Amino acid sequence: MATPTVLVVEDNTLNAELFSDILEMNGFSVCTTETAERGIEMARKLSPELILMDVNLPGLNGLEATRILKSDPATRHLKVVGLSADAMKGDEAIGMAAGFDGYLTKPIDARTFAASVRAFISAQAQVTECAPN
Ligand code: MN
Repeated sequence: MATPTVLVVEDNTLNAELFSDILEMNGFSVCTTETAERGIEMARKLSPELILMDVNLPGLNGLEATRILKSDPATRHLKVVGLSADAMKGDEAIGMAAGFDGYLTKPIDARTFAASVRAFISAQAQVTECAPN
C-alpha cells in the first residue's frame, strides 16, 4: 500500500515532533497541526489514513473536533485515535463516546508507538453495509 498519511493534532510542540519523528522513521507520511480547527480543515483535504487527536487543545478540544468529523458524511469514515495524558482517567470512555476509533495514553511508549499506529490503520473498519450474497 502507498505510504500512509497520519495527521497529528497536538498543541504540545515537543510531543508533535516526537510523534512525527517516530512515524516518519517508520515509513509514514506525517502532517501536524496545533489546533482542532485546522485539524478538521486538513482532515477534509488530506483524507489521512489516521488522525492522532490530542484531547486537550486550545479552542475546540479533541473530543469536540472528533464529534464534528464523525457527524460529517465527508469525514466520518476517517479513523481518529485519541491521545491523552495517562492521568486523565475517564477521558478514554468519554473519547470513545465522542467517536474515537481507538485511544493511546501519553507519555507514549516510543518502542511500540509506530506498531500501535499501524495496527489502528490496518484494523478492519466496522462493516455497516449489507454484503451482497
Ligand atoms: Mn494538549
